[in-house]
Amino acid sequence: AAKRAGGNRLQVFTDDLRVPVQERIAAEARLRRALASDPRYTLPLWFQPVVSTATGRIIGAEALVRMRTEQGNVLAPGHFIGVAEETGMIVPLGEHVLRSAIEHLQHWSDWLGYVSVNVSPRQLAEADFVPMVAALLAEYPYIDPSRLVLEVTETALISSTVDVSERLALLKQLGVRVALDDFGTGYSSLTWLKSLPADVVKLDRSFVAGLADDPRKASIISAVLWLAHSLGMSTIAEGVEEFSDWEALREAGCPAVQGYFFSKPLPAPEFDRMLVAGTTVADVVNSTFGGVH
Ligand code: C2E
Ligand code: MG
Ligand code: MG
Ligand code: MG
Repeated sequence: AAKRAGGNRLQVFTDDLRVPVQERIAAEARLRRALASDPRYTLPLWFQPVVSTATGRIIGAEALVRMRTEQGNVLAPGHFIGVAEETGMIVPLGEHVLRSAIEHLQHWSDWLGYVSVNVSPRQLAEADFVPMVAALLAEYPYIDPSRLVLEVTETALISSTVDVSERLALLKQLGVRVALDDFGTGYSSLTWLKSLPADVVKLDRSFVAGLADDPRKASIISAVLWLAHSLGMSTIAEGVEEFSDWEALREAGCPAVQGYFFSKPLPAPEFDRMLVAGTTVADVVNSTFGGVH
């Protein structure tokens, strides 16, 4: 696929947590501008397809926020979500993400099953969160609420000050689905998993990458698949980068996967093309291995 000039450049920084003070201040200022609808800084959503192992087709997408700066650079969330959480700007940011995600879902209604959105603990702890989601859904009467999936992390749930199970239960009453993100990186207490009203478990990529060559990872994955299934939950494997991992997951009975193997997160126009073209795993494999026509 030809790359358009200019756009879609992803600026890569290190993972060093000791971000210099000036950089933090700059990040905060940029975020403030973006949230104030300063057109020089925007917060577009990128979309990563989720693919069914049964059909090889796109069944949904995860919306992942980006920040486009005045210079046209695109920043990954690692560069501003932390600041957004610390300053409380995650609340308006999160609302923007939800609204934009639902707008896109409405636009892609005939092609896309669902959209999932990441929700930070701070958002979930807001007294207004559930009413806000309800009001938003009411604005889109043609979108069935079950087509919206909210992703929360285990660690977020544990550290929260509010009764998260109760809040998730209220969201479920709206018809929204809930996914446990990065599953396996937190405590993963089995009792606790049972008590959480989640519909989907997203297996963290640390268990997924290289699983085809690692019997221990394969065992963990089988166990989680079995457990999730027994509790009536579905499973999505994250971070599937290799064809061998895709095959291993499919054979293990994992219903859906997400990862660079199929596609990186894409800006909306590129995701749109992929969706409308009906791109399948077979198409991706054929183009990767030089086109078996
Ligand atoms: P996440 O929700 O676990 O999202 C998956 C991350 O893994 C994304 O990074 C995605 O680009 C990356 N990824 C997907 N497939 C692969 C793969 O095959 N290999 C590898 N190595 N990575 C893969 P991204 O977009 O940089 O987002 C990072 C995190 O930022 C997300 O992790 C999520 O926790 C957070 N985030 C993103 N958007 C939002 C948002 O709108 N609100 C909130 N609160 N958090 C967000
Ligand atoms: Mg703006
Ligand atoms: Mg996520
Ligand atoms: Mg994740």
